[in-house]
Amino acid sequence: MFPKIELHRHLEGTFDIDTLYDISIKNGLDTPREKQKFKEYCQFPKDHESDFLLFLAKFHTNWYRSLDDVYKVVYNSVKKIVNEGIHYIELRFSPEHFSLENNFDRLEITKIVINAADAAAKSSGLKIKYILTFNRGKQTSSEMLKLYRTMLDLNIDSIVGVDLAGDETNFPPELFSKFFDAVNEIGVHKIDIHAGEVTDSSQIWTAIDKLHADRIGHGVSTIYDEKLQLELIDRNIYLCQCVISNFQTAAWSDTPSHPIARLFRKNVPVSISSDDPTIQNANLVDDYLTIVKNFDFSFQELVKINFNTIDASFLSADQKSSMKLDYSKALDFFIQKNS
Ligand SMILES: [Zn+2]
Repeated sequence: MFPKIELHRHLEGTFDIDTLYDISIKNGLDTPREKQKFKEYCQFPKDHESDFLLFLAKFHTNWYRSLDDVYKVVYNSVKKIVNEGIHYIELRFSPEHFSLENNFDRLEITKIVINAADAAAKSSGLKIKYILTFNRGKQTSSEMLKLYRTMLDLNIDSIVGVDLAGDETNFPPELFSKFFDAVNEIGVHKIDIHAGEVTDSSQIWTAIDKLHADRIGHGVSTIYDEKLQLELIDRNIYLCQCVISNFQTAAWSDTPSHPIARLFRKNVPVSISSDDPTIQNANLVDDYLTIVKNFDFSFQELVKINFNTIDASFLSADQKSSMKLDYSKALDFFIQKNS
């Protein structure tokens, strides 16, 4: 399969549905017992029109009843990622999501998620790093900072970034500037901000100027702001765009006019990601197929985007160089197999 680099995917939206089904039976949850109905309960229906509320309704946090449940779901979910041809991934997760229902210790949960994901990645040959997600609607800036400071004590090298996600409309980025000032000052992690997904480009400006964003999640409203496009080019700040997710959430429901191709052809840094593949009922391969079908991307352009995506990653300069060599080998192998 064509090797891919992916930088914007939430573990909360990447769960293995069979494992979740088993766990929900074991824990006696009030979920459909018939497998097909259970899938419909968890996933956005295929061929359904854009529907933001329906999309959000698919994020449940009450699956887990024990730390072992969390380990099992994460292990089995990460194990399958390699089936999408993913060579390297920066997988993000919210310790809050896995802890909320049972008030599990956030540090314990972080360690369990990373141990499970590392073990799965190792056994499947996937290269993986992690991003910690903080949710706008669930914590204040000072609560985020308090939790973040305790997480630093874990000293986990494979955590490379911090992400701000959640409700853009009611919780604008400036509310969190103190937290990201501190993250920037501490200097251990890079910064990735969801911005301009369902809001105008002013939130992207705030993210890059006030929240020290090294990367932007979605950023579709960039297409309306030429000055911002030039700024992103100048500062080499990437937009990780997710075409299928944007359709389902109605962030950009007219896929044939999605900005990704226009931005790429204007040299605005863009990268292809899936966001929440299990919930979307469509994985990263489907995103690539959608993009090729709608925008006529050539093979060379897809290769270029993936090399660019390595540049956009939160790896160190040395790690990027070796990742590029390694990716070239995977690409050569793919070309040989398909020629
Ligand atoms: Zn996202």
